[in-house]
Amino acid sequence: MSVLAEVKDLSKSFDDLLILDRIDLSIEQGEIVVVLGPSGSGKSTLLRCLNFLEMPEKGKIRIADQQVNVEKISQKEILKLRRKTAFVFQNYALFKNKTALENITEALIVVKGINKSKATERAKKILADVGLSDKENAWPSALSGGQQQRIGIGRAMALDADLMLFDEPTSALDPEKVHEVLDLMQQLAEQRRTMIVVTHEIPFARKVADRILFMDGGRIVEQGTPEQVLDNPQDPRTKDFLRRVL
Ligand code: ADP
Ligand code: MG
Repeated sequence: MSVLAEVKDLSKSFDDLLILDRIDLSIEQGEIVVVLGPSGSGKSTLLRCLNFLEMPEKGKIRIADQQVNVEKISQKEILKLRRKTAFVFQNYALFKNKTALENITEALIVVKGINKSKATERAKKILADVGLSDKENAWPSALSGGQQQRIGIGRAMALDADLMLFDEPTSALDPEKVHEVLDLMQQLAEQRRTMIVVTHEIPFARKVADRILFMDGGRIVEQGTPEQVLDNPQDPRTKDFLRRVL
């Protein structure tokens, strides 16, 4: 296996409060990494710094062939690095005034520079992959949360990025809609799309993750296989967290 992404000594503060504390992380090509941790531990901030939705203060990031020192990064490098990742948001973040199909074609046209007819053709294939061919012309407001999130994931798939980042993709959903989104993510995992998933869905993590990271206080305090972290946690903070969620 080869290393797809590397993070070295990554730090981020908000209002003088250290939120990410010298994170080191290395992700293999095709690896499925699940991030667990209590609220406020820095999970979202970590994903958002990898995509430069938040600007880290210090550290180095490499994704595929693009390596940057965040202290010296240019706007051009930010855009280039951002295109190595595709982000799936908790609240879907769809364009409300665009149809399901247009939400995906827009990504292909704007981000990938693909012409409209080719983009439409590809977007239709993706809608079929996420099981929503019949919703092509639907507005997001007419779709269930689960359907909206499948569009959100379809949009991320369309970008065909090296690394997919999921930030609690099912936590805004009604309980009965959670599985349709997790099933789709499991399919992507089976295709060995490299991904980092922040989630509280422990059974999903157990089934799908190659590695689980446990974060607390802006640090990765423990990591290992699902068996290691879930069944035999070593750090008291991991033990305490699992006692509360399991
Ligand atoms: P998690 O996703 O693990 O719940 P976050 O990464 O969202 O944690 O947040 C970690 C900490 O950073 C929290 O204390 C949160 O209040 C703080 N934080 C996150 N985003 C901001 C922001 N934009 N401005 C100020 N503080 C923030
Ligand atoms: Mg979060």
